[in-house]
Amino acid sequence: MIHKIGVLTSGGDAPGMNCAIRAVVRAGLAYGLEVYGVNDGYRGLVDDDIFQMDRSSVSDIVNRGGTILQTARLREFKEESVRQIAVNNLRKRGIEALVVIGGDGSYMGAKKLTEMGINCVGLPGTIDNDIASTDFTIGFDTCLNTIVECVDKIRDTTESHQRCAVIEVMGNHCGDLALFSGIAEGAEMIITPDHPIPEEEIFASLKKLHDAKKKRAIVIVCEKIYPDIHAFADKIGKATGFECKAEVLGRVQRGGAPSASDRVLAARMGAYAVDCLLSGKGGICIGIVNNKIVDYDIYEALSLPRDKHISMLRLIDILK
Ligand code: ATP
Repeated sequence: MIHKIGVLTSGGDAPGMNCAIRAVVRAGLAYGLEVYGVNDGYRGLVDDDIFQMDRSSVSDIVNRGGTILQTARLREFKEESVRQIAVNNLRKRGIEALVVIGGDGSYMGAKKLTEMGINCVGLPGTIDNDIASTDFTIGFDTCLNTIVECVDKIRDTTESHQRCAVIEVMGNHCGDLALFSGIAEGAEMIITPDHPIPEEEIFASLKKLHDAKKKRAIVIVCEKIYPDIHAFADKIGKATGFECKAEVLGRVQRGGAPSASDRVLAARMGAYAVDCLLSGKGGICIGIVNNKIVDYDIYEALSLPRDKHISMLRLIDILK
């Protein structure tokens, strides 16, 4: 039976991380555990920046974006000697287990800490939805709604001026944000790593729309496909006749109050993570699959194919 657990956030921040922290703290306290917060992700473990949390430590945070525990990337955590410092700091305080909220890099750190004797459970906290072991990550839905709100606004002005807007959205190498926002917007074109379109085909389709006097065209593109999205928009302009502007939505996509859906997802996953630690599990990550909360071994999770929403790609072609 464990008595003390810790919680940290790591990697890129995502709306809903605070709800996940709250769920871990409140569930831990409900089961009679002592719960400790770790500031700055794995860096706080190494620097011993750890503090005890109570109910009020997580009051009034359900509606706040970002993470009250701050987050960080610590490259050196890949070295066993650095992780050993973290393990020593945890042992010194009697902390036996950890909940790590972050992306797949953070999962690797969690797995390796488990192998060194500290049971860890990973929660998928990332806007990118790039973790194969869960249908949805905490932060994806909020980010998607932010994108849709922004694109709605860009549409208005794009239509007034009869332009083409090329809008680059986040997602790292995962096209889900582009795919879902493109479908939600009825975009004329959606370009993702799973749905690349040859340039000639892009130009020809958009030229056809321009020649047919279409008032505007919206092209949603996943980041990291075009090295210079502004140069790509210029090329579209020259090839099609549309006045074409590129918009990079940028970090506005990471912030803001979490959506109701992300809050509920974070609450379900956070409470489940504590259940797992109480039953002695470690080296696992939590997901939601077909609306059921599930857990996977982290190595297995990281080896799964990232094709969970592949069937939605057909909508791009039949709804355009
Ligand atoms: P995001 O999806 O937002 O990028 P992430 O968790 O994937 O989040 P990373 O920067 O890849 O972000 O990883 C976060 C931290 O996890 C790293 O800074 C490092 O401290 C730790 N980490 C990553 N990979 C490993 C590894 N192989 N072994 C140990 N620790 C790791």
